[in-house]
Amino acid sequence: MRIIDIFDKKRFVFSFEIFPPKTTSSIDTIYKTLESLSDLRPDYISVTYGAGGGSNQNKTKEISSLIKNKYGIEALAHLTCISSTKDEIKQILKELKEEGIENILALRGDVPLEEELKGDFQHASDLAEFIKETDNFDLGGTCYPEGHTDSLNIENDVKNLKYKIDAGVTHLTTQLFFDNNDFYKFMDLALKYNINVPIQAGIMPLTNKNQIERIATLSGSKIPEKYFRMMNKFENDKEAMADAGIAYATEQIIDLMATGVDGVHLYTMNNPYVARKTHNNIISIIHSLNRE
Ligand code: FAD
Repeated sequence: MRIIDIFDKKRFVFSFEIFPPKTTSSIDTIYKTLESLSDLRPDYISVTYGAGGGSNQNKTKEISSLIKNKYGIEALAHLTCISSTKDEIKQILKELKEEGIENILALRGDVPLEEELKGDFQHASDLAEFIKETDNFDLGGTCYPEGHTDSLNIENDVKNLKYKIDAGVTHLTTQLFFDNNDFYKFMDLALKYNINVPIQAGIMPLTNKNQIERIATLSGSKIPEKYFRMMNKFENDKEAMADAGIAYATEQIIDLMATGVDGVHLYTMNNPYVARKTHNNIISIIHSLNRE
């Protein structure tokens, strides 16, 4: 099923993101995670795509196929374009099609620092346009409530977002954020620039100190003082820290639900405990919204 059709049918869409195991690990390590996540029957599960090339990228296809064909849950395969040629992308599209995958998250990927760009694409919108010319996948795209780090400012970033929609992206997922006010301001801007596709909020429960510091650096997202207080207090008790992170994310999600968000995409970090607990905290509200 196309993900845009799920948005058409449901008031609130809830999904998970997972990543393939490292190149050095066997694909088997993901089975346990998938078993546990699929029990929760999310609307779809997305699978990230390593920007660095190699066999890890094939795992995105393999895992997306398992999600769709073994567990009967819709899969969203991430695909980056910054280092790829049109022929390489064509081959990947063919392989995804053969596995029955209908949904792709069209991404640029991070620009490699030292490598000279050898690809045929500059932006996610170029990839979206090429996929639309080649085949009939339903396309998702990304957006950034605090602005993408390459952009001069958030307004400029949102203006650029329109290129993606015009190229055929039917729904958007946000970068993770920890202050809902950033999301609400972003939604106002999106409206101003006529971006009227469904937008899912990307939420990540942070559950340990190393993760918090890494995420802050990688995503560029602001981490509120409140989170650091929690971390400093509970960092030596793994379970307490995890539960505090889940409680923070739950509060964020319930506030978003109360203000009418189209959906939430949970960055699970392949951690079924976090996904299950967060899911259990909001399941009655999901049911209530989808009955409306
Ligand atoms: P783009 O949409 O191309 O935007 C990048 C910059 O270019 C922005 O500043 C934008 O304003 C500007 N821009 C966009 N279009 C145009 C245009 N047509 N003309 C001029 N300027 C333009 N990375 C991975 O490697 N693998 C993954 O699986 C992955 N999954 C992700 C999932 C989500 C939900 C998110 C939010 C990010 C993910 N990323 C992933 C990271 C992403 O690849 C990086 O953030 C990357 O730097 C930007 O990708 P993009 O598709 O958002 O780029």
